[in-house]
Amino acid sequence: MSLLSETACADKITRIERILGPLVELAHECRLCPRQCRVLRESGQVGTCGAGWNPKIAVALPHFGEEPPLVGTKGSGTVFFSYCPLKCSFCQNYDISTMGIGRLVEPAELASIFMQLQNMGCHNLNLVSPTQSIHQIMSALLIAFRKGLNLPLVYNTSGYELPEILELLDGIIDIYLPDAKYGDVHSGQTLASASNYAEINRQAIREMFRQVGPLQTDRQGLAIRGLIVRHLVLPNRLADTRAVLRMIAEETNEQAHVSLLGQYFPTTNVQEHPDLGRQVQEFEWLEAVFWLHHFDLERGWLQYPSYDDRDMFIPNFNNETVFHFIVEKGLQECLIH
Ligand code: SF4
Repeated sequence: MSLLSETACADKITRIERILGPLVELAHECRLCPRQCRVLRESGQVGTCGAGWNPKIAVALPHFGEEPPLVGTKGSGTVFFSYCPLKCSFCQNYDISTMGIGRLVEPAELASIFMQLQNMGCHNLNLVSPTQSIHQIMSALLIAFRKGLNLPLVYNTSGYELPEILELLDGIIDIYLPDAKYGDVHSGQTLASASNYAEINRQAIREMFRQVGPLQTDRQGLAIRGLIVRHLVLPNRLADTRAVLRMIAEETNEQAHVSLLGQYFPTTNVQEHPDLGRQVQEFEWLEAVFWLHHFDLERGWLQYPSYDDRDMFIPNFNNETVFHFIVEKGLQECLIH
């Protein structure tokens, strides 16, 4: 298993110390994401994402539903942060991203959770939806690295990220795992009230690729550095998959690993929606795969549409088996109270 060297960890500590002040400053009158709400979060105001000052976590666990180089044999040490700045109407994790289910944690406790995931043998630390809490996550990481954390860091995001914030993370994040959700102004506006999504996402992926380059793995095939871009195919071409895949190819010289996801399912919120109210049909999936090849994106994974096994890939936070698994592994304090 590839762990970070002592030198790499020391370098991360130095870099985190350097950016912590600027990040906290940006969070005060919040400008941590493209929404630029400018709300005073420390005083209790909330912006579009809904997050307060301290991070909330929905669950933390060794996750086996991520891409194979992240999962290995011991799982990806995944921490799901509550809330999300993007708020897609069809979100597959609606309970977490919009309802904000979870438990507030202080940085010291979060650092302890990171260490527990490492002690359980996880191959990396996978921060899911970290954007709105990045200032406090960095505080927690500082504590954890000083205590001996040495896992590669995965930044797992909707892809709605300000490039100037990403620049602050240069040298700290090892693996970027962004979504590329929408390919045009219309889809971003209609599905997430974010008409600038496609342009911001392009800039973000450009910056991520500049920092970490193509995916690198160790001898066991575990990810140690690089970029993996996820794209969820939507029914009725709503995501403009063609434009998304072209953008990824252009910004990464066809070098990015792409995880093409076909497992979209309509959540309760959109079951009656005329376009979103059904799963992706075979012809739509095949069309997406065609564009993948057309733009020479030959590295990555296909997750075929499935009507049976969605729980393998999308944690259902009401699913007792998920919670039993955590309890068995001794991470009770991460359960939602
Ligand atoms: S992180 Fe939340 S509060 Fe801050 S700018 Fe983004 S949506 Fe607004």
